[in-house]
Amino acid sequence: SLSVYKFGNKKADGGKELKNLLGGKGANLAEMSRIGIPVPPGFTITTEVCTQYTQEGQKTVIERIEPEVRQAIEEIEATMGAVFGDDENPLLLSVRSGARVSMPGMMDTVLNLGLNEEAVKGLIQKTGNERFVWDSYRRFIQMYSGVVLGLKPENKEDLDPFEEIIEHLKEKRNITLDTDFTVQDLKDLVFDFKEVVRKRTGKAFPSDPWDQLWGAVIAVFNSWNGDRALYYRKMHGYPEDWGTAVNVQAMVFGNMGQDSATGVCFTRDAGTGENKFNGEYLINAQGEDVVAGVRTPLQITKLGSQRWAELAQVSEEERLEQFPSLEEVMPELYKELFEYQRALENHYRDMQDMEFTIQQGKLWILQTRNGKRTGAAMVKIAMDLLREGLLDEKTALNRIDPIKLDELLHPVFDPQALKKAHVIAQGLPASPGAATGQIVFFADEAAKFKNSILVRIETSPEDLEGMNIARGIVTARGGMTSHAAVVARGMGKCCVSGAGALKINYKTRTLKVGDHEYQEGDWISINGSTGNILEGKVATREPELSGEFAELMELSDKFALMDVRTNADNPRDARIARSFGARGIGLTRTEHMFFEVDRIKAMREMILADTVKGRKTALNKLLPMQREDFEGIFEAMEGFPVTIRLLDPPLHEFVPHELATQRDMAEDLHISLEAVKAKVAELSEFNPMMGHRGCRLGNTYPEITEMQARAIIEAALNVKKEKGIESMPEIMVPLVGTVKEFLLQKEIIQNTAEETFKRYKDRIPYTIGTMMEIPRATLLADQIAEHADFFSFGTNDLTQMTFGYSRDDAGKFLQVYLEKGILKHDPFEVLDREGVGQLVRMGTERGRQNKPKLKVGICGEHGGEPSSVAFCHEVGMNYVSCSPYRVPIARVAAAQAAI
Ligand code: ADP
Ligand code: MG
Ligand code: MG
Repeated sequence: SLSVYKFGNKKADGGKELKNLLGGKGANLAEMSRIGIPVPPGFTITTEVCTQYTQEGQKTVIERIEPEVRQAIEEIEATMGAVFGDDENPLLLSVRSGARVSMPGMMDTVLNLGLNEEAVKGLIQKTGNERFVWDSYRRFIQMYSGVVLGLKPENKEDLDPFEEIIEHLKEKRNITLDTDFTVQDLKDLVFDFKEVVRKRTGKAFPSDPWDQLWGAVIAVFNSWNGDRALYYRKMHGYPEDWGTAVNVQAMVFGNMGQDSATGVCFTRDAGTGENKFNGEYLINAQGEDVVAGVRTPLQITKLGSQRWAELAQVSEEERLEQFPSLEEVMPELYKELFEYQRALENHYRDMQDMEFTIQQGKLWILQTRNGKRTGAAMVKIAMDLLREGLLDEKTALNRIDPIKLDELLHPVFDPQALKKAHVIAQGLPASPGAATGQIVFFADEAAKFKNSILVRIETSPEDLEGMNIARGIVTARGGMTSHAAVVARGMGKCCVSGAGALKINYKTRTLKVGDHEYQEGDWISINGSTGNILEGKVATREPELSGEFAELMELSDKFALMDVRTNADNPRDARIARSFGARGIGLTRTEHMFFEVDRIKAMREMILADTVKGRKTALNKLLPMQREDFEGIFEAMEGFPVTIRLLDPPLHEFVPHELATQRDMAEDLHISLEAVKAKVAELSEFNPMMGHRGCRLGNTYPEITEMQARAIIEAALNVKKEKGIESMPEIMVPLVGTVKEFLLQKEIIQNTAEETFKRYKDRIPYTIGTMMEIPRATLLADQIAEHADFFSFGTNDLTQMTFGYSRDDAGKFLQVYLEKGILKHDPFEVLDREGVGQLVRMGTERGRQNKPKLKVGICGEHGGEPSSVAFCHEVGMNYVSCSPYRVPIARVAAAQAAI
C-alpha cells in the first residue's frame, strides 16, 4: 500500500473517508482539493508509517518511503514552478502533523522549510522582496529550532530564547510590532538566532533542505509521544497506536506585504452556536501569528469588527482606521472566503473551523475541520442543522456528546450580583460561562487553590493540563481564535482572552490594572459570555433547561426506550431532577435522612436499646420525621414512581467514634460513657461493607423495617388525601442474597401496609422489590423474581463484590492498574460489561424467565455514564437512575443507544 498520498490541483489520492490513515488534516486537505477548493499542493505520509517508525526506527523507514516522497515532491515542483533544494528558484515547504482526531496545538508544525543562505539570495532575486524573505527565514529558524532541535526556555518565568531576542530588539528599536522590523533587523535576528542554536546545541543550524525535511518529519512522528500529546490522549482515552500523519505541503505566503494576510475562521459561533460566520485575520503575517497573539488580530466580518469595537469602546473612525474587517479591506477575497465556508459547511454538514492565507491577492485554504465548540454551541448547532434540513433527527442526536451537556448544567452568574460587581477589566468573550476563583499565573500551579483562575499573558500547549484544572482562564493577549480561546471552548471552560489592560508580571506574580494591583491568590470572577473580569466572588444560581436544550431533550425522549429516573434523598434534589426531566426516583437512600442533628439522637437511642420495646420507643420518634421526608419527595415527584430503599448501612456508622462526641452521646441519652463505648465496640466490624447491613439489619431488627414501611405507606396516603397526588411507592429491600431473606422482609412490609390501610380506611398501590447487588442474587434471580415485583441493579456493590475490590480502598491500586492496562476503565465509573455485565444480563434474563414483565432498572453510579447506559439498553432494562445533574446526559445516552 501507499506510504504517501498526494493532493492539490483539484484532485487527490485520498479523501475524508481516510481519516484513520491520513489523519484529520490530511484527509480534509485531500477532500477539499477534490471538491475544488484551492489548497496548496502537497502530500500526506500515512499514520501507518508513524507506527512503523516507532517499531522499526528512523533509518529503515526513511529508506523505504524516500522514493515515494521524492516523486511526490516532483509533482509539487511542477505545479508550483519551483524546485526543492534549488538555490535560484527554491520551493519552500510546510511540514504539519495531523492525527486522526484534531488535537489543536498538540503537535508541531514547521513553516518555510528549505531556506538557507543560498536559497535566501535566490528567493530575493526571484521575488524582489527582501523583507519577506528574511522574515520567512527568521521564522523558519525559530520554528525549526523549537520543534525539531528542541530548544525551549530554561525556566518557566523565561520567554522562549528567540522571543527574548525579538523582545530585546524591539525595545532597542523602540517598536512594538513585528511588522516594524527593517530588513537589517531581520538579518540581525537570523544571525542571533543561529548563534543561539550553535551555543545551545553545539552544532550549526542545518542548511541542507533534505536534512531539514527528514528532521521535521521525524520530529512530527516523535511529537506523537511528546508530553502534550500524551496528556491529551490520556484525557480523551485515545490509544497510542493511532499515530500521527505528516503533511508536507507547498508554502503560500501571507507575509509578502499589504496584499497578503493569514487568518482563522468559523462557519458558526463556537461559543454560542449562533449561525454567524466569524473569524480573525492579520495583514502581512504568517502561520500562527493570529493564534499566538503576536499582534492583536482583526475581525473578518464587519459585524464582528463592530461588536468588538463596542466592547473595546473604540470609535467608528478609529475602528475603520486601525481595526478594519477583511470584509472592508479586501471585499472580493472576503466574498470568495464566504462562499468556501458555506460550501464546506454544507459538504461536511457540520460547523467548520478553517485556516486560510492570502498571498498577493490569491486566497488559499489551508485547513478545515469540524470545529471544537462549547456544550451550548454543540446543542444549538445540532438543533439548527436539523431545522435547516442538513441533518435528520437521528444524526442530529448522534452529534451530541452527552458528557458535554454537563457544561449547560453549571451555575450561571446571578444577574443581580453581576450588576453590583466591580469590573476590573474588559476582554473578549472567548468561551462562555461563569467562573470564580483565586488568581494563579502558571499552569503548573493551577492546583494550588481549590478554585483557581489561570491568568496568563498568553497560553501555549504546555499549559493544557493546568487549563483543565483551573476554573477559568484569562489572557492579556490574543483574540477569539487564540490558543487559550480554542482550547477553553473545547473543554467547555470559561475564558476571557485579550484583556489588554492587564499588566501581568510573572516574576512578581502580580496583575496590574491602572494603579490597582492584584496578587496571586486574590479572588476574581470572570464572565465568558461578556468578557468581563470582575473583582472578588460573584454569586451564582442554577441554570435553566430551555430553548434548543429543551428541544434536544424532547427529541431524545422520542427515541429512548428506557425511562430516566433520579437518585434523590430529599425533595430539593427530587425537584431539580424533575426540572431536568426525571420520570421518577430510582433510589431514595433512607439513611441519609438520619444524619440530621435531632434525628441522629433518636437513631442512637434505637441502636443503644437492648430490648425490642426500647427500640420501638426510639423508632416511634423517627417515624414522623421519615414520614415527612417521604411526603415531600412524593409531592415533588408528582405521581411518578419512587423507589425507596430500606435502611442499608451498618449501624456502627451512626455511632460516634471520637471520645468527645461519645461523651455528648452519653449525656444526651443519660447513660454512662462506658455503656456508649461498649456499644461502639460491639458494633465494630472488620469488614463492615460485608457485615451487618442491608436486609440483614431488617431481618435481625424487624421493627426497623416495620417503622420504615409504615412511614412510606402513611406518607403516600397523606399526600393523596391532602394534595390529591397519587403516589407510586416501590419499596426496595437491599442486599438480598437468599430468597428467604427477601420473603421475610416482604411479609413485614405487606402486613404493615395492610394494617395501615385499615387504619386509614384507604389504599394506595405499591410494590415490593429488591436490589440486585450480591452476585448470589443474580444467580438465583429466577427464584427471587417469583416473589419480587422489580429488580434494581445496585452496580456499585455488585462491582465491588464481583471484582472483590473494596470501593473505599481501590484508589490505591486502580491508578496503577489503569496505567498498566490491567483495566481499561475504572469499573466503578464505567460498568464492566465483560464481567459484572454478565451478571446483570443473566440476572435480568433469569428474572424475566419467571416473570416476563418484571421491571428492571439500575441505580448505581453507572446509571449516568453514557456507555453504561447503552449497556442497560442492550440488556433491556426499563429505566436507568442517576444523580439529578446527570439526568439530561442519561436521556440523550438512552436515545443514542436506541437509534
Ligand atoms: P495546527 O494543527 O497546530 O493548527 P497547522 O499544521 O495547521 O498546525 O499549522 C499551523 C499554521 O501554519 C496554520 O494555521 C497556517 O497558518 C500555517 N501553515 C501551515 N501550512 C502552511 C502552508 N502550506 N502555507 C502557509 N502557511 C501554512
Ligand atoms: Mg500549531
Ligand atoms: Mg491548523
